[in-house]
Amino acid sequence: MRAMVLKRLHTPLEPDERALPVPGPGQIRLRVQACAVCRTDLHVVDGELPDVSLPIIPGHEIVGRVDACGPGVARDQGMRLGVPWLGWTCGSCTYCRSGQENLCDRARFTGYTLDGGYAEYVVADHRYCFALPDALDDAHAAPLLCAGLIGYRALRMAGDARRLGIYGIGAAAHIVLQVARHQQRETYAFTRSGDNAAQAFAWSLGAVWAGGSDERPPGELDAAIIFAPVGELVPAALAAVRKGGIVVCGGIHMSDIPRFPYSLLWGERRLVSVANLTRRDATEFLALAPTVPIRTQVECFTLKDANIALDRLRSGSVNGAAVLLMSH
Ligand SMILES: [Zn+2]
Ligand SMILES: [Zn+2]
Repeated sequence: MRAMVLKRLHTPLEPDERALPVPGPGQIRLRVQACAVCRTDLHVVDGELPDVSLPIIPGHEIVGRVDACGPGVARDQGMRLGVPWLGWTCGSCTYCRSGQENLCDRARFTGYTLDGGYAEYVVADHRYCFALPDALDDAHAAPLLCAGLIGYRALRMAGDARRLGIYGIGAAAHIVLQVARHQQRETYAFTRSGDNAAQAFAWSLGAVWAGGSDERPPGELDAAIIFAPVGELVPAALAAVRKGGIVVCGGIHMSDIPRFPYSLLWGERRLVSVANLTRRDATEFLALAPTVPIRTQVECFTLKDANIALDRLRSGSVNGAAVLLMSH
């Protein structure tokens, strides 16, 4: 099968011809139809995450069709399933036993420690694969699997905030804005200073205000979610939320947070991070998606153009989500 492979950190992915992976016990093999490109893929390539299993096939927002089942699995041939970031958990550590499998000490992650979806086929543990809303085609469903799931977990962490700030208007934000509007929250979108295209995009998705991250929104926010991997946004967001407000860091990696005065945190403001996802997040969010209904905006690339898609994401020039489409 064809795959795009990260062989060394800080280098472009390389096209490779791999043997068809064989599903082991509890696994299925999926013929990949589409795989969205996530900012985390950039963090993997750029060596910003520890212990990448090199060589690795990136990609953890995979839409595929069941092609073969390993021992002990019975899934219909051709069934459409999505594969997210969380690829396996141990089921026995304290986190797994307390409903926090997202924090599992031995978790494995698709496209990071397990081969992912920048390929024609992928194998996955069938317990971590999910049916997707029928109304979305493969390309439009793919971003639900990380931008959607992590975005949803971040939104849940923001509690019942009515006035919600969102920093970084990329793939996750473009889904969260729709869910937030559905939940009758007011959203305030923060972009890079002067990024009129991103601000217009946020308006079109229901934001009540959009501006640069160096601007103050009209009035105080109840909570803010930071999707951009920029540490400077933490004090900015803390300064924008009211007493008792929450600032949620939604990314897996962020540049260092600059020193800030304690007064920004004082008043029972809370600063939290969101790590990974649980299978419960996936089930809840994928059931919610068609009721919103969530529509995703995607820009499609071929598998061999994966490096171009990553570069576009790096430069912040993708409106919505970048998606690789496999041609079989
Ligand atoms: Zn565990
Ligand atoms: Zn992701």
